[in-house]
Amino acid sequence: MSLRIRNATLLNPTPSGLKEQPETSLRIKEDRIEEIGTRLPEADHDLNANGSLLPPGFVNAHGHAPMTLLRGYAEDLPLRTWLKQRIWPTEAHLKPDHVAAGARLAILEMLANGITAFADMYLFPEETAKAAIDANIRCLIGANIVDATTPEGPPDQALKRAETFLKEHPPREDGLVSGSLAPHSAYACKPETLEACSRLAKEHGAQLQVHAHETRREVYSVKERTGKRPLELLDDQGCLVENTLVAHGGWVTKQEAKRIGETGACLVHCPTANMKLATGGYAPVPEVLEHGGRVLIGTDGPASNNTIDLLLEARQAALVQKQHRWDATLLPADRLLRMMTRDAAEALGFPGSGRVEEGAVADLAVVSRESPGMVPMHDAPSGLVYAATGRDVIATVVGGRLVYVEGSWRTMDAGAVMEDAVAKADDLVGAADSSVD
Ligand SMILES: [Zn+2]
Repeated sequence: MSLRIRNATLLNPTPSGLKEQPETSLRIKEDRIEEIGTRLPEADHDLNANGSLLPPGFVNAHGHAPMTLLRGYAEDLPLRTWLKQRIWPTEAHLKPDHVAAGARLAILEMLANGITAFADMYLFPEETAKAAIDANIRCLIGANIVDATTPEGPPDQALKRAETFLKEHPPREDGLVSGSLAPHSAYACKPETLEACSRLAKEHGAQLQVHAHETRREVYSVKERTGKRPLELLDDQGCLVENTLVAHGGWVTKQEAKRIGETGACLVHCPTANMKLATGGYAPVPEVLEHGGRVLIGTDGPASNNTIDLLLEARQAALVQKQHRWDATLLPADRLLRMMTRDAAEALGFPGSGRVEEGAVADLAVVSRESPGMVPMHDAPSGLVYAATGRDVIATVVGGRLVYVEGSWRTMDAGAVMEDAVAKADDLVGAADSSVD
């Protein structure tokens, strides 16, 4: 199978800067970019990009895809109330078919927004894995670990279930789904559970995903309970290691930012969810970068965002950091583009993708420049990060396969996915409401 995309402005983020190639075409064979040039041979499929921008596909580095079912369900509440009174009581009624329906809806949205890979942590991860494989999107899926009974079962079986999941979905650089371990946080997991997660992850060569330092209260309550701040505890239990995805980090000191950099862990900045839940802190993005760490961008779950649009999220990340530090030069658009593509693909364990180069895995987004808000375009990365949204994406390619083009999904029945998600959302919320009555 081959695909040719003609007449695009290729945007390739490299460690030494962004490489732009206007009026260029590329030819994909199987899952790889075979050739880049101006006159390329015909292919089985042909797409005229009409001058569109062509960056690598966007990588959403933190989220809870099945929470699409709770989009708009618990609004304008502080995090603790939001979780304890609305989200957790509703999630207690989750069944695998809710998770499957929510994950499919999230994937439908992600593909339309040019997202070609995502990191996820949620209950019944095998349902999200199946949805991803069926739809042909790449993901790092974390088996959820908490020290509490969940719809998946009692806490003493959580690690066993996680191990089964890791055996079914071993981490693979060239695969669609890589299994990982997701101890929820230092406040939802005991120190011995965190240590067991670290051991299991090492044994299976799997990555860790965790929430940390999202609120000030979390930091102090963990310190009170264990004598250590959450990141210190995660570090001591062996969870702060290379490529651990640390979501949020709003209440991180300069010293802790340095430690993130030293360990090779990644800070996943989720500005919209932080602002919506008014968590108050600001992720120390410049400090982590200064110490050689990676910073990635995540939307978090759709119940606290409420969209899964990485272009919007990158714009928020830039604006929040600039405003907070009184420094308009922070996080320029080309740096953000690298964070949300190449850096994130490498961090999630998919180093073959995240690039627009010959030989790279073809995970790509095609972003139109034809809407009024996209002209004139004096600077392509700024057009992408500050002006475009997911609605400007006209095509998405994952592993060389055209999965979305101009309002039509090639691997999913959009109407059926949305109808099923609405029905399952009603069922889930109805079950939660009737248990309160
Ligand atoms: Zn989260």
